[in-house]
Amino acid sequence: MDKQRIMMKAILESIEEAIYIIDSSYTIEYMNRRMIELFGEGTGRKCYEVIDQDTVCPWCHAPEVFEGNEMTLEMYFSKVDKIFEVTEKPLENPDGSISKMSFLRDISMLRNREERLRASEENYRSLFEHVGVGIYISTKEGRFVDANQALLDMLEYDSKEEFLSLDLATELWMRPEDRQRFQRMIEQEGKVADYEVDFKKKNGTPLIVSLTANVRCDHQGNVLGYEGIAADQTHRYLMERKLKEAHDFMNKIIQSSPSPIMASDLKGNILIWNRASEKTLGYLASETIGKLHITKIYPEGVAREIMKKIRSPEHGGVGILKSMPMLYVRKDGIVIEGTLSAAMIYDDEGKEVATVGSFVDMTERIDMERALHNTQQQLLQSEKLAAMGRLTSQLAHELNNPIYGIMNTLELLKSEVKPDNRRRKLLDMSLSETVRLADMLRKMLSFSKPDQEEKDYADMNTIIEEMIILHEKMLQEHSIKVKSELAEGLPAVYLSKNQMRQVILNMISNARDAMPEGGILTFRTSRENTMVVIEIADTGVGIAEHNIKHIFESFFTTKDSVKGVGLGLSVCYGFIKEHGGDITVSSKPGEGAAFRITLPIDKAEQNEPKNSFSTN
Ligand code: ADP
Repeated sequence: MDKQRIMMKAILESIEEAIYIIDSSYTIEYMNRRMIELFGEGTGRKCYEVIDQDTVCPWCHAPEVFEGNEMTLEMYFSKVDKIFEVTEKPLENPDGSISKMSFLRDISMLRNREERLRASEENYRSLFEHVGVGIYISTKEGRFVDANQALLDMLEYDSKEEFLSLDLATELWMRPEDRQRFQRMIEQEGKVADYEVDFKKKNGTPLIVSLTANVRCDHQGNVLGYEGIAADQTHRYLMERKLKEAHDFMNKIIQSSPSPIMASDLKGNILIWNRASEKTLGYLASETIGKLHITKIYPEGVAREIMKKIRSPEHGGVGILKSMPMLYVRKDGIVIEGTLSAAMIYDDEGKEVATVGSFVDMTERIDMERALHNTQQQLLQSEKLAAMGRLTSQLAHELNNPIYGIMNTLELLKSEVKPDNRRRKLLDMSLSETVRLADMLRKMLSFSKPDQEEKDYADMNTIIEEMIILHEKMLQEHSIKVKSELAEGLPAVYLSKNQMRQVILNMISNARDAMPEGGILTFRTSRENTMVVIEIADTGVGIAEHNIKHIFESFFTTKDSVKGVGLGLSVCYGFIKEHGGDITVSSKPGEGAAFRITLPIDKAEQNEPKNSFSTN
């Protein structure tokens, strides 16, 4: 081997490409180190066997090379799973024969990378085309550079060509000014997220889309256009509308409920306040929701108690409060009575989130019950008075004759005893006591038979004035000042003058007894609808609260046995009731008492007296 061939071989051994040489019978004459590494030692064997073929390779170009041609091919070698760029050259031997020299450059990596790039591009394109939202790239001036099928479908365009030629400002955006605003935002911020606008479908109808886009810039940072996604919001809008309708429906049910309904979160902030709550508690929803604390509508400490009861199992189960009596504080501070039913509201995980309560305003019912109770009490009182009246009149009947008998006998005895006789004094005393007894009996009888006198229309003011004049002196002696505030033009009342005089007289006597140190006695008259009202007020000792309900009873007296027998007011009561009127009293112990008498102007109202004390 000459020196040149040795050098040549050394070079061939050191280079990275695989090299082999075959003769015209395809027998390998030489393989360099890289070729042996890849395919194994094959010198002396047929090249196609080493490359892993049974016969000459189908792509073999050896004949052309043996004729002196050079060529470069790209070839996949399955034995080593590599792609080679194969360069084949003819090589003239010293004997004039031609061999073929092949250089194999491994380009697998290169090809793989290209392949991957191509595949990834395809993936992106597929994603771009098939993703469920519209994707587009547009120029700053307002033309599409590209848009995916989803965007075409959304806007109902068939031809991509037509779509890409649209003038975006006028043919895509429903309102061009929206695009201007969008451009300002995106160019300032670099991006826009969830920007809701109306796009125009091919048929001109609007489509609500949500845009999320980025700005596209060149290397110098100049804005080229925008790229982004457009999501169809129609479905969301429909869902939102359905949700809103469901919410509105629920709200209407709550609002139109005749019972007050309210809800609050766990901090006590009011969340729901319906119209019935507004009406019953006086606060408007606008004053309560998010503004008023729920504790304000209950007396102090009650809200906390309610929460405890809702959470306890004892009032209808945990989370429930069965209807129970409750007090509420209205906006004007007035406390009203009602009932409350409440429940805890839990979220999907079972966590407490709010409470809801509904209540019934019982004020009217409770007031009615109270009025009924009062009427029952009054009826009982009237019954009692009537029974006493009957007893009184029977007693009076029974005692009347014997008393007059005793009186006559005493008078007779008196005439038989000389005035200076010591017994005469005793007789006088007995007689005066008997007279007092007779007077009492007379009162008792007038109580039982009040309607002795014919009634006629008379002026109550005149009756009062007469009685004042008659007793002026007596009142002065007791340091009592009389004030009369009598209404002018008071209508005449159909009445028994004697009985009314007796009533006024009784009032004056009682007032005098109530003001031992003197005071003021006021007479006041007025008209109220179909009634004449007479008020007689004094500044005397007043009536103890526990006595007020007894003072119209017969024989009720707080005076000693000489001064009072307790018939005056019961007689007055009988007279007034018989006139179809009423008598009531109010008093503050220590400050005085005020009697109020009402009498009907119209005689028709007296036809059936409400309480009559007749005995037979
Ligand atoms: P009497 O005067 O004989 O006691 P009445 O029936 O007239 O009987 O009165 C009953 C009671 O009512 C009196 O004993 C007194 O306690 C009370 N009373 C009546 N009028 C007045 C008054 N003007 N001020 C305070 N107490 C009164």
